[in-house]
Amino acid sequence: MILNVTDLIKKKTNEMSFDLELDISKLQRDDFVVELADKLKIKGTAILDGEDILLKGTIKTKIKSFCSRCLAPVDYPLTIDFEEKYSKKQGEDIYMITEDRINLEDMIIDNIILSYPAKILCSDDCKGLCPVCGKNLNEGQCECLKDVIDPRLEALKQFFKGD
Ligand SMILES: [Zn+2]
Ligand SMILES: [Zn+2]
Repeated sequence: MILNVTDLIKKKTNEMSFDLELDISKLQRDDFVVELADKLKIKGTAILDGEDILLKGTIKTKIKSFCSRCLAPVDYPLTIDFEEKYSKKQGEDIYMITEDRINLEDMIIDNIILSYPAKILCSDDCKGLCPVCGKNLNEGQCECLKDVIDPRLEALKQFFKGD
């Protein structure tokens, strides 16, 4: 995941566009692992900013995840716009330029972590799992719900009768 920025460093140009397609199955850093269900596409523009380089663009991929309600596997599409600074000098929120190259991996992982959805659903109307028997309710109703609700309804009927 290396972007060659020699032309910018040597000031042959002020701006260069890039369009990369990475055929990788996962991204990993320390405890963070994300499996990819599609190629990772990253495109944008690298702009010379004094001695630094400003990188603007879009990351597009699909991540392998699970439905928060029914746990079914979901390939979740991610489109992330980014704007980051790269420099030969270290600093806060700055990525490093090493030689004439930029390693995109850290920046990509940071951006995926930042925009990772808190909740992923297989569909907006996912019915989830039965809390009693664990059956996937998208595949059909189980018997538990009746058993839980019926006695309560019965008690309610008795209550209204007595009123
Ligand atoms: Zn679901
Ligand atoms: Zn059930």
